[in-house]
Amino acid sequence: MAAGAEADGWWAGLRARVRVAGLRAPVRGAGLRAPVRGADLVPPLWQLIGWTAAVASASYLVRWLASVDGRTFTVVWLAAAPQLVALLTARRRHWPVYLLAFAVTQYLPAWLLLGQHPELAALSTVSAVLFAATLLHPDRDWVSGRSDSVRSWRRFVIYAVMVAPMLAGVIGAASVLVHQQGPTDLQSLARTALIWYLAEAVGIAFLTPVLLRWRRYWRRYTGRQLISTAGLTLLMLGLGAVAASESNFLLMFLTGVPALLMLIEFGIAAAFWQLAVGAVIILGTTFAGRGPFIATADTATQAMIHAQAFLLAGYAMVVIVAAALEERNRLSALDHVSREIYDLVADLTGDLVLVLDPRGDVLHHAYTGHTHLDLPQGRISRTEWLEHVHPEDQHLITNRMASRSEGVSLPFRVRSREGGWRWYVVHSRRTAHGLSAAILRDVTLEREMQESLTDLANSDALTGLANRRGLTQRAREIWLRAHELDQPLTALFVDVDHFKAFNDEFGHQAGDACLRDVSDVLQNLAAPETCVAARYGGEEFAVVLAGCDDPYTFAKGVAAAIRALGIDHPASPCGVLTISIGVATAYPRTAHGVDPDAAVGQLLERADQALYVAKSQGRNAIALARDEALVGEQVHRAGEEAREAGGGGHDD
Ligand code: GH3
Ligand code: MG
Ligand code: MG
Repeated sequence: MAAGAEADGWWAGLRARVRVAGLRAPVRGAGLRAPVRGADLVPPLWQLIGWTAAVASASYLVRWLASVDGRTFTVVWLAAAPQLVALLTARRRHWPVYLLAFAVTQYLPAWLLLGQHPELAALSTVSAVLFAATLLHPDRDWVSGRSDSVRSWRRFVIYAVMVAPMLAGVIGAASVLVHQQGPTDLQSLARTALIWYLAEAVGIAFLTPVLLRWRRYWRRYTGRQLISTAGLTLLMLGLGAVAASESNFLLMFLTGVPALLMLIEFGIAAAFWQLAVGAVIILGTTFAGRGPFIATADTATQAMIHAQAFLLAGYAMVVIVAAALEERNRLSALDHVSREIYDLVADLTGDLVLVLDPRGDVLHHAYTGHTHLDLPQGRISRTEWLEHVHPEDQHLITNRMASRSEGVSLPFRVRSREGGWRWYVVHSRRTAHGLSAAILRDVTLEREMQESLTDLANSDALTGLANRRGLTQRAREIWLRAHELDQPLTALFVDVDHFKAFNDEFGHQAGDACLRDVSDVLQNLAAPETCVAARYGGEEFAVVLAGCDDPYTFAKGVAAAIRALGIDHPASPCGVLTISIGVATAYPRTAHGVDPDAAVGQLLERADQALYVAKSQGRNAIALARDEALVGEQVHRAGEEAREAGGGGHDD
C-alpha cells in the first residue's frame, strides 16, 4: 500500500513536471474544449504498467517457447489481444504512449534475453492493433459490453479477426525477407504471411472479447446452468479426445454441437467459454502431434494451419450466430418491457387504451383501472366488441371507422359490468400500417353533471317548472313528436287572477308558496313526453301538450284543479285563488317546412292573446283561439264562446 502511494506521488510529480515543461495543445477552440496538456497524453500509471507487463510477458513467453522447440512460427500470438484491449479501453490521446511502450516491450526482452531482433515483428502487431483499434474504438457500446449487436460483432470479426491480422501477416513476411530468416521465394513468403496471419487472428479472436467482457460474463449462474455447462463441456472434451485419438474429422466437427447448444441456452458468454475449450482441444492435440489435422496433412506446420483455419471459421460462425440470438433476445425483452410500459402508461391515463388491427379487431387492451366494463381479455373481434356498444350508438362507431376520422368522437354508450350503460368518447389515430390506437374515456360523470347543469339552466328556481329556455327546448321536442304522430298541439297560457292583491294581503312569502302550489298542479297534467309546463314569468305559466282532443275541457279541468286547492283569497270575487287561461291549438302535420321553434312561438302568442280576452271577460275564465289565420279577429268571439261554453265563465 505504502509503496503504491509513494509510486503515485512520484508519478504525480512527473506529470506535474511535464505540465511545467509547457507541453500544451494549440489554443484554438480553447473556449469550447479544455486544452490538452502534455500530462494528459500519459495514461494512468497502473494501467500502463499492467498492460505493458501483460504484452511483454505474452510476447516473451511465445518467443521463448518457439525458440525452445525450434519452430519457425507460433501457434497463437498472445500479445496482440492485450494491446488491442488496452487501446480500446483507453482514451485516444493515450494511444501513442501505449503503442510506444508495446513496441519497445516486444522488442527489448527478445533482443536482450534471446538475442533476436524482432523490430519488424513488433511493428506488424502494433500496426494490426492500431488498425483494428481505430475502426472499433468508436463503437463504445460494444467495447464496454453494453451491446452485443450483430453489426458490432460482424465488424469485430471482419476488421480485427480478418483484415488487421492480414496486415500483420504482410509485415511479418517482409520481416522474414529482410532478415533472410528462411526461403524468400514468393510461395514461401505467402505461406509465412498466412501462418503469421493465423497466429495473430486466433489470438485476437479468442482473447479480445474475454478480456473486454469478462466482468460482464462473470455473473452469478444458477446451479442448473452450471451443471449443464459442465455437462456440455465434458461432452466436448470427450468428443475432442476421441476425435484426436481416432484422428476422426467427423467427431472433431461434432464438438461444435455442444457449443451451439450452449449458446442457444445461455447466450454469447457461454459460447465463448465453449469456443475456448474447443480451441484448446484442437490446437492442443494438433500441437502435440495428434488428431485428424495431423493425420491428413503432410507436415506438422500444414496440420497446424488447417487446425487454425478450422477454428477461425467455426469461431466466426458461432460468434455471429450468438450475436444474432443475443440481439433477438434483447429485442423480445424490449418488446416485453414496452408492453409493460404501455400497460402502465395506459393505466396512468385512467382510460381504456385499445390497439386495433385494420379490420377493427382489438389486438390488445390495457384494462386495469377500467373495472366498469365487461370486456374479455386478449383479442376481441370487431363484432364481439360492437355488441357492447348501445345499439342506437353503433352507427356512430362504424361511421367513424369507415371515415377514419381522428378527432374526439361524440359520446356513445357502452354496456357496463352492472348491466347499465356508461358514456364514453373515443379518440383514435391510425398508423401507416393500418393499426389504430384508440383511447376510450369514460365521460359518464361529466355527462351526468352536464345534464344536471342543463336542468338547472332550463328550470325555474322558485317552482321547479321549466323556465322559458326549458319550455322552448321541450316544446320543440313535443312539436316534433306531434308532427310525427299526427297529433294536435295545444298551448295554455295561464295567469293567476288578482295576484297583486294576494301578495298585498298575505305578503310575498305566501305569494311564493301559492305559486308553488299552482306549479305542482301544472307539473302533473300529463305524461312528460307529451306535455311541458313552464313558468313564463311572474304569476304567468305556459303549458304545451300534444294529443289533446278537447282543449277546452282540459283547460276547464286545470282551472277547476286550481280552485280545488282552496287557497284563501279574500280580495277575489270567488274568495279562493282562481286562474284565467288562454287556449290555442295547432296541427303540426299540416304546417310543412315550418321551424318548430317559430311555430311553438306563434302558438303561445295566440294563447296569450286568448288569455287577454279571458282576462278582459272578468277573470276566472277560459278563452279559446280557434283560427290560426285570423287570430286577431276571432279571439274576441272565441273568448265569448268560451264564456258560453264555460257556463257564464265558470265551470262549476
Ligand atoms: P290580474 O288578475 O289582472 O292578473 O291581476 P294581477 O294582480 O294578478 O296582475 P298584475 O300583473 O297586476 O300583478 C302581478 C303580481 O304578481 C305582481 C307581483 O307582485 C306578483 N308577482 C310576480 N312574481 C312574483 C313572485 O315571484 N312571487 C310573488 N310572491 N309575487 C309575484
Ligand atoms: Mg299577470
Ligand atoms: Mg295575474
